[in-house]
Amino acid sequence: MKFEYQNPTRMIFGAGTLLRLGEVAREYGNKAMIVTGGGSVKRNGAFDRAVASLDEAGVSAVECSGVEPNPRLSSVARGGEIARRESCDVVIALGGGSVMDAAKVMAAAVFYEGDLWNMFPHGQAARRLPTRALPIITVPTLAATGSEMNSGAVITDEKTMIKSFVGAKCLYPKAAIVDPELTVSVPPDQTAYGICDLITHITEAYFNGVDGTPVQDRFAEGVILTAMEYGPKAVADGNDLDARAQTQWASVVALNGWVQAGTLSPFPVHMIEHTLSAQHDIAHGAGLSVVNPAWMRFAAKTRPARFAQFARRIFGITKSDDMEAALEGIDRFEAFLRSIGCPTRLSECGIGDELLDRYAEDTLLVAGNAEGQLPGRPMMTKADIVEVLRAAV
Ligand code: NAP
Ligand code: FE
Repeated sequence: MKFEYQNPTRMIFGAGTLLRLGEVAREYGNKAMIVTGGGSVKRNGAFDRAVASLDEAGVSAVECSGVEPNPRLSSVARGGEIARRESCDVVIALGGGSVMDAAKVMAAAVFYEGDLWNMFPHGQAARRLPTRALPIITVPTLAATGSEMNSGAVITDEKTMIKSFVGAKCLYPKAAIVDPELTVSVPPDQTAYGICDLITHITEAYFNGVDGTPVQDRFAEGVILTAMEYGPKAVADGNDLDARAQTQWASVVALNGWVQAGTLSPFPVHMIEHTLSAQHDIAHGAGLSVVNPAWMRFAAKTRPARFAQFARRIFGITKSDDMEAALEGIDRFEAFLRSIGCPTRLSECGIGDELLDRYAEDTLLVAGNAEGQLPGRPMMTKADIVEVLRAAV
């Protein structure tokens, strides 16, 4: 194991911390663009409180509203233009992962020459990562993606219906203001999808990473167990602030690079899911809930001992045969997802089996290697991806 780790995002965590937005933003200038989604932050009062905090600190604000779930490239381009035209000093993302991802790319779009889609791998076209962005402050309103404290963004090109991923140093937020009070209005279904997303960020590294990472394994298991303890409480009672806070902190550490440090892990389940949410506009966490158990059953055949470790440590399964323990662990994991209200079959998301080839081709277009395989453990061919998806129909 050999790695370098640096996460430059300043973390401000706790109930009521939204009040500090103005003070933090003021460090980066006196004019902000606030990026928002479809209106939840207007309905729950978060937007007004954010603007009041900025106002008090002498920061004026323009808004870029209407970022859709599974954010579109055109929305990102629109936001970049607003930030440039209005000469904003700082970009504030107030919303879920979709808003945060879009805001990050808007902040980079201000300086990016040429087609924004070239930031994202999507087949043959040459890729050019962004190297500069306006300072970004994230204020998540949903516990799920961890985007608030990482350098990634996932955007859909609505013309080709391809969803792709960019990660670049300049996209790390300067600060994340993580106020669990902002998540109490998240409905039970989105809360559950967020729990699935955060757990999947961890299982990707746990099952696809290099061997010999015992410290990371225990971190991973600790975060998963915590999410499985507090997540259902947040689903059952959205006003349970302690459950909201533990779930949200779990979502941050699940993808701020800490659990993944040194694992060198690709994210095959995410890469497959992105083709589903690109084609059908389903919630990312719902898509993961369908793909992950099916992928686990496929991958366990090649590494039963790894999956047996997960089964024994997460679910206390006592079977001595690795493959039997592995499969029981996956069944239990799937049952957990169902218990919080996540779908585990494509049909529950209104998706049939007509486009399985297309999903596999799109997955490889974005994330395939030179041999046409999807990196992960095991490496997957197009036929393997179709097999996993067929098992989830
Ligand atoms: P989201 O798409 O940002 O939001 C889903 C829904 O929840 C929206 O309708 C939103 O409404 C609503 N919502 C958000 N906060 C709310 C609140 N406090 N109260 C009530 N409703 C609220 O969901 P997400 O799961 O956070 O983000 C998913 C996106 O992130 C996907 O595109 C996925 O691919 C991407 N992703 C990124 C990363 C990363 O590291 N960058 C990792 C995983 C996934 P409004 O629009 O009205 O606000
Ligand atoms: Fe995710």
